[in-house]
Amino acid sequence: MRIRRLKLSGFKSFVEPAELRIEPGLTGVVGPNGCGKSNLLEAIRWTMGESSPKSLRGGGMDDVIFAGTATRPPRDFAEVSILLERDADENSAAGESEVTRRIERGTGSAYRIDGRDVRAKDVSLLFADAATGAHSPALVSQGKIGAVIAAKPVERRLLLEEAAGISGLHARRKDAEQKLRATEANLARLGEMLNDQE
Ligand code: ATP
Repeated sequence: MRIRRLKLSGFKSFVEPAELRIEPGLTGVVGPNGCGKSNLLEAIRWTMGESSPKSLRGGGMDDVIFAGTATRPPRDFAEVSILLERDADENSAAGESEVTRRIERGTGSAYRIDGRDVRAKDVSLLFADAATGAHSPALVSQGKIGAVIAAKPVERRLLLEEAAGISGLHARRKDAEQKLRATEANLARLGEMLNDQE
């Protein structure tokens, strides 16, 4: 899976709609201090489902919305879209998908995949299956290299599982276990009802 294009509007310092094409190969982002380089990486992680304001260098989720400057009023919403190029696998043919996350001030955020409303979980499964995501070691922000080196064994195992592409399986297993427990509870209740009728 490759990110081909990033579109931002109202996200942090990107107040005006901006579009970045990401060509195959190594991409570097250069610019003076404070011009928004880290904000670009945060936009990708946010769209992949990052839900911790702290890891987005904010106090609350609304802090990703352009907050205004001395000369510009704040925005009411932020929206970021990532265009992904998918490789073919056993379930689907190669193709493109656009993942969008939008947040409105005071009302929270919502996700779309190719224009369809989806749950946060659908987006995180999409990226987990592709062995990437908001916490992927492929996204290295400032100060993260030291954190990876100092990671505890459990954290290191999570990194390896993500790299091996099995994080999505874990999420599905948890779902399946919950459904199994609910079904077992239903069966037990049914058994009691049948006993009562005999
Ligand atoms: P450095 O090279 O110093 O690490 P950088 O290029 O990575 O800098 P960022 O940290 O991405 O820069 O951007 C910081 C800028 O983004 C600051 O000017 C800050 O005021 C601005 N910014 C962050 N959040 C918002 C927001 N919600 N609204 C408006 N501007 C914001």
